[in-house]
Amino acid sequence: MPPETPNDTIYAPATATGVAGVAVVRVSGPRAGAALTALGGNPARPRLAVRTRLSDPADKAALDDALVLWFPGPASFTGEDVAEFHLHGSRAVMAGVLAALSRLPGLRLARPGEFARRAYDAGKLDLAEVEALADLIAAETREQARQALAQLGGALGAQVEALRDTAIKLLAQAEAEIDFPDEGDVAGGAIAAMKAPIGVLAARIGALLDDGRRGEILRDGFSVAILGPPNAGKSSLLNRLARREAAIVSEIAGTTRDTIEVRLDLKGLPVVLWDTAGLRGIDETDPHHAIEREGMRRARERADQADLKLLVLDARDPSLTGELAALARDALVVLNKADLAPAATGLAVSALTGTGIEALERELAAIVADRLAWRDGAAPLVTRARHREALEDARAALLRARDLDVAELIGEELRACLAALGRIVGRAGVEDVLDVLFGEFCIGK
Ligand code: GDP
Repeated sequence: MPPETPNDTIYAPATATGVAGVAVVRVSGPRAGAALTALGGNPARPRLAVRTRLSDPADKAALDDALVLWFPGPASFTGEDVAEFHLHGSRAVMAGVLAALSRLPGLRLARPGEFARRAYDAGKLDLAEVEALADLIAAETREQARQALAQLGGALGAQVEALRDTAIKLLAQAEAEIDFPDEGDVAGGAIAAMKAPIGVLAARIGALLDDGRRGEILRDGFSVAILGPPNAGKSSLLNRLARREAAIVSEIAGTTRDTIEVRLDLKGLPVVLWDTAGLRGIDETDPHHAIEREGMRRARERADQADLKLLVLDARDPSLTGELAALARDALVVLNKADLAPAATGLAVSALTGTGIEALERELAAIVADRLAWRDGAAPLVTRARHREALEDARAALLRARDLDVAELIGEELRACLAALGRIVGRAGVEDVLDVLFGEFCIGK
């Protein structure tokens, strides 16, 4: 992102382009009030929707009969003066208003994520909340939106602040010990007394980390690797599922056949199905099967990264030989081609006719819902690998501090713990994260 220019007034469409009932244009910065006035608005009534005839200041041509809102800073999304134009959602009206704004002095089109960036810089949102905003905008399923919304409420930030408070108090104790060693104290007694509370703080962080990664899985999608012998019907099953209502994106073809993905919305939960190369119950040491072995190796590697393995077998020959037997132990087994084997029992489906597909989706949804259920009705706090890494760093520093007996060194570890916690909410050491994160937004967010 180019250098920040905080005095610029920025504008951008806040809604997607195209024909719609309403389209919103947002202006933020010191000249937002002047822009509002120039187009015919009146900044006299903050936070009220005012019906306004907008016209182009250049030639007085009518632009729209719109609703206009005025949010004087600092009580606005960005903390700056903000004007919002709720226009009729036509390309022509939008283009006219954007052109009129572009001709006003001191205004320029916003860069992607720049509104959110200004909100962050003004302290309106912490870094975890900015991430939540990005997640909410990108949410594909109900449960993803619910989690992002909970995160946007600042739950992670509040938890991190509470942890930081405790760490700061411990650091103060360590520093007192540096400045006034042994004062009225048995030598080392004060340091020994710090060990228990440091351990308790490490355990509190440990409890946050011990969440089955449900927040991250919900955000990224629960991954299911489809495995099975060649010709069992894995691709057909994937295609069948992709054509159903639950499919979000019908198919994403990767560079190789073993990275085809289908994203599903199963009862509000995001599921990503991976097709993999065929697996067969062959003797792995047989040199004639080098190609199959390579396919199997890749399939297994991919499957090991998945949250669930779905083993597809031909219902006419559901025997579990060699590699398949080991796989079946921790996989959901599906018998495909049930149309050719009417007597098949268990999770029997037909990718060809569609029989049993709904039952398979129900079964998958139940497994995923069980894995990702909120604990005690509370949304998971750790929703990104970035949060997890920072919490792990903070806990590791505390565990090191607990084993030390020199106040200076304990203080150093507590500072490392505070720095790691601070990274979550964006206090310091996050410059590299910011550009990536704000780049996730589109223009106008
Ligand atoms: P993969 O190698 O496991 O991906 O298997 P494919 O999806 O390519 O299917 C192998 C063959 O089985 C193809 O000829 C499919 O048309 C056929 N097939 C797949 N599913 C079914 C099914 O449910 N019933 C029947 N009768 N044939 C199927």
